[in-house]
Amino acid sequence: MDGLPVESLKRVGPRVAERLAKLGIRSVQDLLFHLPIRYQDRSRLTPIADLRLGSEALIQGFVEDASIAMGRRRSLKVSLVDAGGGRILLRFFHFSRQQAAALQSGTLLRCYGEVRQGPVSLEMIHPEYRVQSEDGDEAEPGLTPIYPSTEGLQQATWRGLIEQALALMERLRPLDLLPRAVIGPQGLPGLCEALRDLHRPPLEASLEDLLERRHPAFVRLAFEELTAHQVSLRRLRLAQQRISAPILEGDGRLRARLRAALPFELTEAQGRVVREIAADMARPRPMQRLLQGDVGSGKTVVAALAALQALEAGFQVALMAPTELLSEQHLRNLRAWLLPLGIEPLWLAGRHKGQERAERLEAIASGAARLVVGTHALFQDEVVFQDLGLAIIDEQHRFGVHQRMKLREKRDGEGAAPHQLIMTATPIPRSLAMTLYADLDLSVIDALPPGRSPITTIAVPDTRRDEVVERVMLACRQGRQAYWVCTLIEESEALECQAAEETARQLREGLPGLRVGLVHGRLKATERDAVMADFAAGELDLLVATTVIEVGVDVPNASLMIIENPERLGLAQLHQLRGRVGRGAVESHCLLLYHAPLSQIARERLGIIRASTSGFEIAERDLAIRGAGEVLGTRQTGAIQFRVADPVRDQRLTAPAQRAADRILEHHPEAVDPLIARWLGARELYGQV
Ligand code: ADP
Ligand code: MG
Repeated sequence: MDGLPVESLKRVGPRVAERLAKLGIRSVQDLLFHLPIRYQDRSRLTPIADLRLGSEALIQGFVEDASIAMGRRRSLKVSLVDAGGGRILLRFFHFSRQQAAALQSGTLLRCYGEVRQGPVSLEMIHPEYRVQSEDGDEAEPGLTPIYPSTEGLQQATWRGLIEQALALMERLRPLDLLPRAVIGPQGLPGLCEALRDLHRPPLEASLEDLLERRHPAFVRLAFEELTAHQVSLRRLRLAQQRISAPILEGDGRLRARLRAALPFELTEAQGRVVREIAADMARPRPMQRLLQGDVGSGKTVVAALAALQALEAGFQVALMAPTELLSEQHLRNLRAWLLPLGIEPLWLAGRHKGQERAERLEAIASGAARLVVGTHALFQDEVVFQDLGLAIIDEQHRFGVHQRMKLREKRDGEGAAPHQLIMTATPIPRSLAMTLYADLDLSVIDALPPGRSPITTIAVPDTRRDEVVERVMLACRQGRQAYWVCTLIEESEALECQAAEETARQLREGLPGLRVGLVHGRLKATERDAVMADFAAGELDLLVATTVIEVGVDVPNASLMIIENPERLGLAQLHQLRGRVGRGAVESHCLLLYHAPLSQIARERLGIIRASTSGFEIAERDLAIRGAGEVLGTRQTGAIQFRVADPVRDQRLTAPAQRAADRILEHHPEAVDPLIARWLGARELYGQV
């Protein structure tokens, strides 16, 4: 059926086919997998008196009165009364003269629509309606599916197409790609049954189960989709294990010298992940390890130790950060630690142009530069390494799977691929990580270094802004530094930058004598870096910023942070922002300057952030409130987007899907390609190694 084009269906001409193609639907199989986003219950009439605000319902009644109101917008108003005496107003803004004429008083109408509160009574705006003959038809049996659509495709068209596809399915039976041995123990229905139930819910199906995607038919498809992802990532992993990588054992001398020079001992958690990484690098297969650790957990020193191991073994190391600013900060840290060991890191940044750039590239290509620090520009083809042994990628959520792949192309002379260490401060619960990063090994730093003074977080309504400004004044007078974060007010970077500029202006006015800096996304990278460098050097007291400072910036003397409109941010993001303070020994504060009134959910979420300073705990609770898609966004899930499954809601399917994937790869290799094509289609960037 996957070979059968949609054009083979009745009423699908070039126009419809083109519209379907916009949604990625080309074959009859694609159509079958185009699932309803919701369902409507038109199986029974609701008395008007029983209607609930905000719900959708099927009602029936007589037109009492119909009139055209001129007002601000011309509209047709129809008042409808049912047998129980309930009354509701139907309102149409687009209507023809014939339509208006057909709605004479006394006409019996059946309507379906959303119930809203109008100025005087309940209303339905543009309900679907039908004039009924006196005796009336039966209500429509079962639930009516509503399909995600695109312009020019009506729901009726969808239903017609799906009917045809289902009929074909009954005749041809598409390949059920999950072997019985895999599906049986889960007690889930077969593929055809599941698809049929979703498109044409049986009478006894519960609307709630369907809407919340708990119905076994949904679970069946979610399980298949998760399995397909696992198959794809596992296959990638198997392919990696066939590639060779240099054995980077090292003699430990440089590492010992760094550890002796550090002003602190590694925490137990750091020690553990250092050992995990060291063991990986000593193997002739490329390491693919994800290092997770909360903000401030000390990932940088772990990265430095890994780098030294590769350098000891005589190989080059690349360290990549998502922004130039962060790469510069890494450069600073690494220089402080490594110059005494005789290692001079080389920085490659956008600002290196012309002759200077050529020289740096030459140093990398000749192997004169042993440790290179930069942004993902290091992925570019112009950057050729002599013998790259290890690539370290910081703040992974900005790097997608395909970038990980690209890096592997930077092989050395013998065709060996570099080891990869990917670091992220975005805590992802383990089961979710297993779904998103099944091609990676996981290491977790689960404890902060000792001696951190905790951050106290307080929520303050913006009506008390003056007191907050006062507080900034006090902190800065005592020699501390502070951040003032302006958050996205509209989904527009331009407006956000404007707001930050305005805030900086006001604060300069309100805080005479303080040195106030400003950074936002519209500044040139060099300007932004200059301001950040001034702040880091203590030449600015207060830094007004947009969320560009979210990741990685380390200024231990900053102990106060104000976040405006925190209710607009995700919890993970708030936590990341807040992680900019609490890095020194003095007690730090984070003030959440919110705008009242807060919604119930917003209050709950700010409550979580005040109560907890653990990134993992916050992430778990945020996921429970908002779901994976919203929390992680496409940026963090990289190429992976799910159609039916939700890696959080369907967590309990993760482990079975992993087992199913292993079984399929081993015993049913013929199912691998069709399964991946069905669920990942053209989005499968990996697997072709
Ligand atoms: P992140 O994991 O967010 O990248 P960093 O590596 O920037 O964290 O570390 C935060 C701070 O903690 C740095 O100033 C670092 O020197 C310090 N640090 C790292 N490990 C330890 C430790 N074991 N004991 C004390 N301080 C540490
Ligand atoms: Mg860091």
